[in-house]
Amino acid sequence: MENSRVDTLVVGGGIAGMQAALDLADQGFQVALVEREPSIGGKMITLSKVFPTLDFCSCMTTTKMSAVAHHPNIQLLTYCELQSVEETAEGYRVSVMQKPRYVDASKCTGCRSCEYECPITVPSPFDRGLGAYRAIRVPFSTAVPQIAVLDMDNCILCGKCEKICAANAVDFTQQPEILEVQTTAVVMATGFEMTPLGAKKEYGGGELHNVVDPLMMERFLAPTGPYGRVLRPGDGKEPTSIAYVQCAGSRDQTLGVEYCSRVCCMYAIKQAMLLSGALPMADITIYYMDIRTFGKGYEQFYQNAQAMGVEFVRGKVASIHQDDQQNPVVKVELTEEGRIVERTHDIVVLSLGMLPAFGSNGTLHLTTGSDGFIDIPSPNSDPCATARPGIFVTGTAMGPMDIVDSIVTASAAAATASAYIRAHNYGQVAAALSEPQEEAAYA
Ligand SMILES: Cc1cc2nc3c(=O)[nH]c(=O)nc-3n(C[C@H](O)[C@H](O)[C@H](O)COP(=O)(O)OP(=O)(O)OC[C@H]3O[C@@H](n4cnc5c(N)ncnc54)[C@H](O)[C@@H]3O)c2cc1C
Ligand code: SF4
Ligand code: SF4
Repeated sequence: MENSRVDTLVVGGGIAGMQAALDLADQGFQVALVEREPSIGGKMITLSKVFPTLDFCSCMTTTKMSAVAHHPNIQLLTYCELQSVEETAEGYRVSVMQKPRYVDASKCTGCRSCEYECPITVPSPFDRGLGAYRAIRVPFSTAVPQIAVLDMDNCILCGKCEKICAANAVDFTQQPEILEVQTTAVVMATGFEMTPLGAKKEYGGGELHNVVDPLMMERFLAPTGPYGRVLRPGDGKEPTSIAYVQCAGSRDQTLGVEYCSRVCCMYAIKQAMLLSGALPMADITIYYMDIRTFGKGYEQFYQNAQAMGVEFVRGKVASIHQDDQQNPVVKVELTEEGRIVERTHDIVVLSLGMLPAFGSNGTLHLTTGSDGFIDIPSPNSDPCATARPGIFVTGTAMGPMDIVDSIVTASAAAATASAYIRAHNYGQVAAALSEPQEEAAYA
C-alpha cells in the first residue's frame, strides 16, 4: 500500500483530463491522474485528423501526452481503477487499484523485444479489431507511458517474453496493488463510449461485414492505422462507393438516446473529405435528416465538402441488407421526393452517437441526468460543478461535445477546482505556491 497527498485527483486521461491536469499542475498544484487503460490519450489518440482544421490528431495528442508524463507536478497512474472514495475533513480519501501489468514498470524500457518474441496474436482494440497485437505489447507506438502490458487472458505462459527481456521486467507473479490518495478536489474526465454498432438491428451493424463504425473508419484513415489505406473489412477490396447513415445512434427514442450527439455530422463530413482525398475516384454519400454544424467555422467546412463533390441525400434510412457480393444495400425514404429507393455501396459507416463512459458504480455517489451523463445541478451559473462539493466534471463526461469544447470545459473545471482548493486547502497551497514554479513542460 502506498499513500500520497495531492490537491486534485483527475479521473480519465483523454484530452479533457490531460488538459485539466496540465492547467492545475502549471499553477503549482499537485495532481494525480488516474487512467484505467495502460496509456493515456483517450479517443483522440485513435483519430485520424481533426475537424475543422484537418490537423493530425496524433501530433496534437502526443504533445499533451508527453507534457503530462514529464510534468513534475503530475503523478501518472495508468492501468488503475478507483476502488472506493471516502469523504474526509480535508476532502476525499481515494483507494486506487493498480492492475497487474505482469511487467515491472520501473524496469521496462519499452524496447518491445517481448512483443516481437510472443507467439500469440489477439485483435487490437486500439485498431477497433482491424489489426492485431501480441499477448504482451507496448499498447501502441505513441503510448504514454512506453511500458509493456501482458494480457493474462490470452497468454499461454510459454515464457518466451521473460527469457528475451534484457531488463528482467516480466513478472508473472504480479498482484493488484492498492494506492491511497488523499485529495482536496476531484475532476471527473471519464469521457464517452460509442452507442453499440448492433443496437439498431435493421442496420445490420455487427452482422454485415461492410457495415462499420466511425472509429474503425478513423483507423483506416489514420497514418498510424493498421493497413495505411482504406479497405473493405469483409474482403480487402478497395471501396469505390462509401455511404454514411446519420443519427444511427442518436435522437432515437427506441435506443433510449434522445439527444443529439453533436459530433456525428462533423466527423462524417470530415471523414467524407478525407476519403475524397484518399480515394479520389470513390463516390461518397451522406444520408441525413438534418445536418448540424454549429461550431466556429463548421458551416464553411460543410460547404467545402459539398464543393468537393460529397453527395448529401436527405432521407430516412429504413434498413440495410447485403447482396451476394457482401455489398451493403441501403433502403432509404427520400423525404423531399416522397419515394423509397435502394442504393448499393461498398462500405456503409453508421454515424453512432455518444454514451457516457462513467458508470454510476456507486464509488463517487455522483448523480446522473436523464441522459446518463454526470449531472450538473446549476449549468448556467456553475457549469463544471457536480452535486458533491469539490468534485468537478469536464469533457464528454458532462455530455456529448467535440475536442474544442472538451478543452474549454477542462480549463473551466481546472479554474473552478483551483479556486476551490485555494479556499479549502490553505497549508498545501501555500507551500506549493511559495516554491519557485517549474516552467510549463509544454510551453
Ligand atoms: C469517430 C469520431 C470522430 C471524431 N472526430 C472529431 C474531430 O475530428 N474533431 C473533434 O473536435 N472531435 C471529434 N470527435 C469527438 C472527440 O473524440 C471527443 O470530443 C473527445 O475525444 C472527448 O475527450 P474526453 O477526454 O472527454 O473523452 P475520452 O477521449 O473518452 O477520454 C476519457 C478517458 O477516461 C478514461 N476513463 C473512463 N472511465 C474511467 C475510470 N472509471 N477510471 C479511469 N479512467 C477512466 C478512458 O479510458 C479515456 O482514456 C470524434 C468522435 C468520434 C466518435
Ligand atoms: S518487458 Fe522487457 S522486453 Fe518487453 S518492452 Fe519491457 S524491457 Fe522490453
Ligand atoms: S508467456 Fe505469454 S506473453 Fe510471454 S511470450 Fe508467451 S504467450 Fe506471449
